[in-house]
Amino acid sequence: MKILVLNSGSSSVKYQLLDMEAKSVLASGLVERIGESMGAVKHKRFPGSSREETFSYEEPIADHAKGLTRVVGLITAPETGVIADVSEIDGIGHRIVHGGESFSAPTLVDAAVIEGIKAQIPLAPLHNPGGLAGIETALRLLPGVPNVAVFDTAFHQTMPPEAYRYAIPKELYTELKIRRYGFHGTSHFYVAKQCAKLLGKPFEQTSCVTVHLGNGCSMAAVKNGKCIDTSMGLTPLAGLVMGTRSGDVDPALHAFLADNKGLTIREIDSILNKRSGLKGMCGHNDMRDIHDRVAEGDHDAELALKVFCRRVTQYIGQYMAVLGGTDAICFTAGIGENDPVVRQLSCASLAAIGAIIDAERNMSAPRGQVTEISTPKSPVKIFILPTNEELEIASQTLEVLANR
Ligand code: ADP
Repeated sequence: MKILVLNSGSSSVKYQLLDMEAKSVLASGLVERIGESMGAVKHKRFPGSSREETFSYEEPIADHAKGLTRVVGLITAPETGVIADVSEIDGIGHRIVHGGESFSAPTLVDAAVIEGIKAQIPLAPLHNPGGLAGIETALRLLPGVPNVAVFDTAFHQTMPPEAYRYAIPKELYTELKIRRYGFHGTSHFYVAKQCAKLLGKPFEQTSCVTVHLGNGCSMAAVKNGKCIDTSMGLTPLAGLVMGTRSGDVDPALHAFLADNKGLTIREIDSILNKRSGLKGMCGHNDMRDIHDRVAEGDHDAELALKVFCRRVTQYIGQYMAVLGGTDAICFTAGIGENDPVVRQLSCASLAAIGAIIDAERNMSAPRGQVTEISTPKSPVKIFILPTNEELEIASQTLEVLANR
């Protein structure tokens, strides 16, 4: 069985073709700057293997249809491809950012599902149109291949109302569905399941805090296999400090900035999403650059690192409290998997509440590998668990197709 996973943004398409028997990636790549005067295509076949080959192209890509046509061409052409014909693709899994309250599980795409995704556009105006373009293009270009929508919000739909409702007038929820949704759900679900496997426990009996620290950062509290709280909110701006996003701030900030700096709501939103977080505090949004600056004695970079880690500590503590007992804390994604300093700073004060990080194990942990980094006596385990959103989307796609 071969599954094509598509992650379509407003001007880009990321793709992976997976062989589900071997659980291996046959091809992967990225089509970027769709709709601009010059686009870019990066394609790999057999990535991560001894047969890996990389192909790069600069060319105009007018729209998503042209982009996906290019992808299909690359994976089937003898010089760059891995399959002889598109008929070898058994299904397409689409990452869709917002499923609102309508979608709590991966769903086989039909006309009603497309309408359902469209209906969520007000909640994700920057993200859902790209995902829809990916679905509509795939339906046109690969007729007969089934499509499955996998939602970033779905795993969090099990949160109880006391976790997802905001303390604002009730009609704002009933009329506009303003509430906490949470994102990165596919990653949190995958990592929580890996945690259960590692612990040798059934998923339904596993409780953990999953800490996804990448470009975007979020955390989830998982109780007996179900998400009961998460740090992102109505939008992916809430919660942890991120590369360019502020995470939690005083909600009165908009009024204060409008009154005192004459900024519009749009300008303030852009500041909080694009010019805040690590970048806002010290000018760098990549954690590797921040460590370089810290080593040079840059105080802004040092403070940005401390603020980032303190927020992680606060959320872990909060979630351990609402879980009322947890098996493990799981670090994942670019920073979580690769940055021992962030993990050390974030966990240093957690020994008092039962999660004791082993400094030695943490510092010497191999990059990108499943590793236990708590002390042998720590009541709560601390793990590095690499995420794999594409594999999870492909697995969920396969499951939906098997149960048709
Ligand atoms: P995305 O959210 O786009 O999937 P990733 O999970 O790949 O992002 O994370 C990207 C981030 O991971 C980078 O911005 C960088 O800050 C961080 N990162 C990657 N490698 C390292 C490393 N070796 N040490 C520290 N941080 C890293």
